[in-house]
Amino acid sequence: MSTVLITGASRGIGAQCALSFAKAGYDVALNYCRSEAKALALVKEIEALGVKAFAVQADVADSAQVKGMFDAVRKELGAADVLVNNAGIAHVGLLTDMTDDEWRRLIDTDLSGTFYCCREALADMIRAHSGVIVNIASMWGEVGASCEAAYSAAKAGVIGLAKALAKEVGPSGVRVNAVSPGVVMTDMMAGFSDEDVAALKDETPLTSLGSPEDVADAVLFLASEKARFITGQVLSVNGGMVI
Ligand code: NAP
Repeated sequence: MSTVLITGASRGIGAQCALSFAKAGYDVALNYCRSEAKALALVKEIEALGVKAFAVQADVADSAQVKGMFDAVRKELGAADVLVNNAGIAHVGLLTDMTDDEWRRLIDTDLSGTFYCCREALADMIRAHSGVIVNIASMWGEVGASCEAAYSAAKAGVIGLAKALAKEVGPSGVRVNAVSPGVVMTDMMAGFSDEDVAALKDETPLTSLGSPEDVADAVLFLASEKARFITGQVLSVNGGMVI
């Protein structure tokens, strides 16, 4: 039986990853930051599938909280065999209007949070000489988005981190990849108008937006034995919007 730790698993893509891994037989540690009720409801749903589930609160932007989270997961479920770095926030606006605090909060959450989690997970995975890390990036990390400069920079960072770590820890039996979603209908898209969403659909060769399941299927594949010779790669799940 394998154990997965998914950050930001209370809602959206992370919550779907938690369900999909549970259906594939994994025990699941679900990290949440603020949405405790949603995380606890998901624990019940996952336990009903016959695997273990453990909700653990932590702000991934805080390295001490991340350390506490990994200690709690080790105690409850054992060390994670798979880490999915999914927790993230977005910020839309001109870079020239962005404050230092807004910049720091985004980079601390989306990029440093991924670093803190990788550091903790790798201590166990290198010792075990096995393990898989999947960083959730974004197509904007591949090509950049106007008015999402900090987000694009952070997501380019998690891609770089995956590529570098793949080289660093491949000889230790650990694989590290990124999944790079396109537009996926979650709370993160709440600020977009119906017209914006229609325009995004029009721009997508497969003529629809992504679902959390589309992303979760790619993450599950990269975590699986079927992806045993794949490391340091970016798997884009974007309906052809960015090629
Ligand atoms: P979402 O629906 O807004 O959910 C975000 C999740 O991240 C929530 O579970 C939230 O937890 C958690 N989170 C936020 N800040 C956190 C922190 N400091 N510590 C721990 N958890 C934190 O977002 P989503 O659309 O599912 O996005 C998930 C990931 O996919 C993100 O990395 C995002 O950048 C990426 N992505 C999304 C899209 C898209 O179109 N939706 C496209 C490309 C990439 P709480 O609610 O418990 O605070």
